[in-house]
This record gives sequence, structure tokens and C-alpha cells, in this order.
Amino acid sequence: MQKKCEICGKIIPEERLRILPETKRCVECAEKNGPDVHAKRRDVGMDIDTYKDLLGAIRS
Ligand SMILES: [Zn+2]
Repeated sequence: MQKKCEICGKIIPEERLRILPETKRCVECAEKNGPDVHAKRRDVGMDIDTYKDLLGAIRS
């Protein structure tokens, strides 16, 4: 199922939705306007986009 960003209307990447299923914003808009969902913050212990960057850094 595809979801579009509530701000720019672009399709939110599936990878992001897997981590943040409730989000209505793409990564760019979340960075510019602030994330709309903090549901996972408890589990992760940090901002979800920071967490994703960290995961990317580990993988690369
Ligand atoms: Zn957007």
C-alpha cells in the first residue's frame, strides 16, 4: 500500500513506512517541518531519522 506525503504529495518510501507506519510525511518534509510521529522513539531511544542514518552508516 502506498502512502503520499501530506505536505509535498510525493510517495513515502516503503522503507520509511516499515519503520514509521503512521507517518504522513516523507523524509525531506519530516526534516524541514519536524516529524509528525514519535511512536517509535521509545523503542529506539532517539529520533527515527537519526536512527535510520545510523543504520545506513552501519550497513555501508
Ligand atoms: Zn514530503
